[in-house]
Amino acid sequence: MAEQNKSALVHYRVELKNLAAHLLEVTCTIPDPTRHGQIVALPAWIPGSYMVRDFAKNIVTISASCGGETVHLEKLDKQTWQAFPCLGPLTITCEIYAWDLSVRSAHVDTTHAYFNGTSVFLQVRGREHEACYVEIVRPAGEQYRNWQLATTLAPVEALALGFGVFKADDYQDLIDHPVEMGEFSIARFDACGVPHEVVVTGRHNADMARLARDLPTICEHHIRFFGEPAPMARYQFQVLAVGDGYGGLEHRSSTSLLCSREDLPQPHQTDVTDEYRNFLGLCSHEYFHAWMVKRIKPAVFMTYDLAKEVYTRQLWAFEGITSYYDELALVRTGLINEQSYLELLGQTITRVLRSKGRFKQSVTDSSFDAWTKFYKQDENATNAIISYYVKGALVALGLDLKIRATTAGAKSLDDVMRALWQRYGLRNYGLPERGFEQVAEEISGLDLKAYFAEALYGTADIPLRELLKPFGIDYLERIASSQTDKGGKPPAANGKPAAVSLHIKTGRGEGGVSVSNVYHGGSAQIAGIAAGDLLVAIDGLKLSQDNLEKRLARYRVGDTVRVHAFRRDELMEFAVRLQAPEYDTCYLVINDETPVSRDLRAKWLQTA
Ligand code: ZN
Repeated sequence: MAEQNKSALVHYRVELKNLAAHLLEVTCTIPDPTRHGQIVALPAWIPGSYMVRDFAKNIVTISASCGGETVHLEKLDKQTWQAFPCLGPLTITCEIYAWDLSVRSAHVDTTHAYFNGTSVFLQVRGREHEACYVEIVRPAGEQYRNWQLATTLAPVEALALGFGVFKADDYQDLIDHPVEMGEFSIARFDACGVPHEVVVTGRHNADMARLARDLPTICEHHIRFFGEPAPMARYQFQVLAVGDGYGGLEHRSSTSLLCSREDLPQPHQTDVTDEYRNFLGLCSHEYFHAWMVKRIKPAVFMTYDLAKEVYTRQLWAFEGITSYYDELALVRTGLINEQSYLELLGQTITRVLRSKGRFKQSVTDSSFDAWTKFYKQDENATNAIISYYVKGALVALGLDLKIRATTAGAKSLDDVMRALWQRYGLRNYGLPERGFEQVAEEISGLDLKAYFAEALYGTADIPLRELLKPFGIDYLERIASSQTDKGGKPPAANGKPAAVSLHIKTGRGEGGVSVSNVYHGGSAQIAGIAAGDLLVAIDGLKLSQDNLEKRLARYRVGDTVRVHAFRRDELMEFAVRLQAPEYDTCYLVINDETPVSRDLRAKWLQTA
């Protein structure tokens, strides 16, 4: 767009006047509002998190003024207002409550302040495609003197990591740069010539120098995967370390991450612990998204309709393929070894095996219904739905293995991804529904219709046992050793799996065992036990979360036990006929290999 007179542009101002009350004051000034009464609205959802969150519910007060006079604001629906006609400039002031500790919304207290634009910036109807200014004001008071500000919004009058004035190209750009304020730990590095920052907030003891050594490896890998130059001029990892938490949200030039402080590398620690491997995987995932979903996008996401749900059947590709590559990048860069990677794959397969919902819902249906099913899971989710993340990752794995084995390593999913980037991401074209399938067939030169029909639109398992064989990898299944067994590892040498199972997921309950999920078709469900029940005794003996496995160890398949439980405040008795536990835990083992399988595997994992 042509350069505009600054005074003609919409101007936002964010002030932190009452952090203790978790309040942000945000004004939006429109120099020349429409003559018919300016309409403004707050989004209902944030791109990357497919659930209607109704951010406008956090607006505590809203008012409008023009030239010092109050202007009447008419509320049109849950998130839209219209100002009475005025000559302008029209200023709308919102007081916004910010107390959601997540990467999706806003969170403000006296220790830090964080917000996404979707939670605070009113969309000015008719002006969405124009540039705008944002002024963010340092909170008053001695305790905020050392606060810094992290964002990838373009600074206009602001020093690096400073408060001041920023500019956005349009509304979509405005809401794609989360802002974190507080006292930070900072690591800096370059990846393929692009400056990167890691900004950590929250109490932690992270080895920042290690992050500055390990993260460039991942970033450079992804940049070179799609091809230099990198599509962003700078990049920022915004990390909030907490006691227990996990999450990330992708943006075009940054990501917001929420993690446990234990996931960050500790000083003097040199190996990659399981926790740190999680954190590296999270960083890798969100960074890959800078291409896949932020630039290669479903056609329906090219201009987001933020007022309501936007449906696509392709989330499996955008989240599943990203999940596949986030971990693959860790082994390809040498941050983890082949064994560690196969353990992660085994865990992903295990998560799918434990979802009975995979027989009920395809990944394309899971994508479409993300808004009401995946993002609104209840106690029956495990029986009714399949995650388009984990099943999507297995669809990607199966496809990659299939293309590699069939073309003797000449082609792979990597080629498909690069073609998607060249044709769609780089040219800013939206990927039409089923577009991925077309590109995959064309680039691989294979007829993949049967594979996609089953993997994307059907509910049968991906035939990974067969697909892994040419790569010298055996696919094995076993019984879980405990409720905390995530899979990926062979059975423990000294462990003996349980002989019977109630087929429920449980937790510690007050005076017994609390049932969180009841698996479809299992012994507990057949007997009538329900999620929410408190199991108190089995054959007259008191039950607890700690003795449950021991109590069950006395029985064999086919035995019937008497289980007492409270449902609400009513004592109930169930006769449970015990079944065998399921072989729902997967691990992968490298077998005696041939030069062909060794070569295929080395090319796939890039371990040669
Ligand atoms: Zn993702």
